Parts: sequence; structure tokens; C-alpha cells
Amino acid sequence: MAFEGLTERLQNAIGKLRRKGKISESDVKEVMREIRLALLEADVNFSVVKEFVKTIRERAVGAEVLESLTPAQQIVKIVNEELVKVMGQEAVPLNKSPKIPTVIMMVGLQGAGKTTTASKLALKLKNEQHARPLMIAADVYRPAAIDQLKTLGTENGLPVFDMGTDVSPVKIVEEGLKVAAENKNDYVFIDTAGRLQIDEKLMQELADIQKLATPDEILLTVDSMTGQNATEVADGFNSQLDITGIVLTKLDGDTRGGAALSIRAVTGKPIKFVGQGEKMNDLDVFYPDRMASRILG
Ligand code: GDP
Repeated sequence: MAFEGLTERLQNAIGKLRRKGKISESDVKEVMREIRLALLEADVNFSVVKEFVKTIRERAVGAEVLESLTPAQQIVKIVNEELVKVMGQEAVPLNKSPKIPTVIMMVGLQGAGKTTTASKLALKLKNEQHARPLMIAADVYRPAAIDQLKTLGTENGLPVFDMGTDVSPVKIVEEGLKVAAENKNDYVFIDTAGRLQIDEKLMQELADIQKLATPDEILLTVDSMTGQNATEVADGFNSQLDITGIVLTKLDGDTRGGAALSIRAVTGKPIKFVGQGEKMNDLDVFYPDRMASRILG
């Protein structure tokens, strides 16, 4: 199960209070120390932890907890509320263009799950809204990427536009958008190239595609299992591309939760979806409150 380490540590920290009646300020201090350690061990960004713990401590030493006959429950309530807040409070829907097509540009490092997520999301829109998406294969550096998108497209009844690997990505996108206009596709997904790390050439290429396609949504896909690294990657992409949303993938294998808890606060951009498995229907809307409940167990 995702986040099991963090859940266990938080439960232990707060559980100690359950045995007490009224609690003192020093009890609060001790719990906060343990919560802080639990979050750092979960690989949550240091500044996020600091701010989080400070807010909870301030609220916890207030009368609502110290005077309470059920202090542990009060602390759980506060921690829960602050977890929801740090993850963005509300679910944020996908941007939609007033006129078709809505263009969604997928960006992210290689292996993060871009191609899979583009297909999952296109299928979700097709199934839930009877959408008619077109996927554009613009990752010309990894030949297998185009085949992968085409295979996923064929398996799921999603059309894919490609021009092989010998044409520039910008040209592919330009032609793909013409096809989408002719076919009146209501959504266009642009699957861009990833790299192992952020580099200038990649960013320039993505900026060129952005300029041409003026996407309604630039969705950054990051691998949640990489913890703080995912947060740094998101910060890097966001500073150069002004992303509009984040998809956290591989949450099914993430035992720690650092990325989920840091990325919104660090980038200011909403997590819109989470990937929770390799299958096509393993993509869900991100609800901060449900995630907080899951973390608290
Ligand atoms: P890309 O290079 O960013 O396009 O990454 P891919 O879409 O090719 O994904 C890389 C690998 O991660 C593939 O084996 C996917 O099946 C896998 N993957 C993507 N999303 C998830 C997820 O949410 N959970 C799990 N377990 N695997 C995922």
C-alpha cells in the first residue's frame, strides 16, 4: 500500500497521546518532533516540513487542544486539515478550451510515465465524456516511444498521428494539429520527448512546441517514487515552461509519499491526476482530502 511507512509513523506519534487525558505543551512538542521526523523520513521537502510543523504546533498549543478531553483526536483533525491544505485543498479539473480542440501537452523525464498517462487520460475522456481525442507522437528520439503510443492507441481505439522519427517535433505537431482540425477532434494530446535529466535543448524544443500549439494544459508527469527528486524536477520544468498541472505516477509503488506532499507547495501547481498502476484504468483524479485520509490511515 502507498505511504505505509508514513502512515505507521504518524499513527505511532499521535497514538502516544491517546493514553493521556489532558496534555501539556511539552506533550505537543514531543508529538511535533515525531511528526517532523516522520515527514523528513518520507522525503518531504525540508521547507514544506518546517512550515507544516510550525502551523500545526501553533494550532495545537491553542486552547482547542490543550483544553480538550480528547487531545489525540484534535491533533488528528488538525494534521488532517493541514495535509489537505498542503496538497492543494480541492481537486482541480483539467483545463478546457472554449472551442475545440483542447490541447494537452505532456512533458516529463524519460520513464516518468508520459506516454502511458497520455493514453490513460485520453481513454478516460473517451469513456467518460465520449470525447474524440487525437494523440500526436512527437517523441522522435526514442523510436520505441512512437510504437508504444501506436500500440496503446490501437488497443484502446485511440487514433495516433505520427510522422516517424525523421521529422522535427515542431513540424509533427503542426501537421498533427491540422489533422485534428480536419477531423474535428475535441482533444489533442502531444506526447513530447523526455530525457534522463532536464537539459537546455529539451527545454528549447518544448518551448517551441508550446509556442506553436498554445496548449490549454501543460501536464507534467513525474514519478512519485523518486520523492524529493520529483519535486526538483517539477520545479525545473515549471520555471521554464509554466506548467498548468502535475500527474504523479507510480503512486502504487510509493511507500513514502514525499512527492505527493511537497510538489504542490514547492511549485504552486496543482496535482490533477495520480497514476496507480500500469493498467489503462489506473489513473484517478487527485483529491487532496482523500489522500490525506489515506496517509493518516
Ligand atoms: P515515458 O518515457 O515518460 O513516456 O514513460 P512510459 O509511459 O513509457 O512509462 C514508463 C514505465 O512506467 C512503463 O513501464 C509504464 O507501464 C510504467 N508506469 C507508468 N505509470 C505507472 C503507474 O502509475 N504505476 C506503475 N506501477 N507503473 C507505471
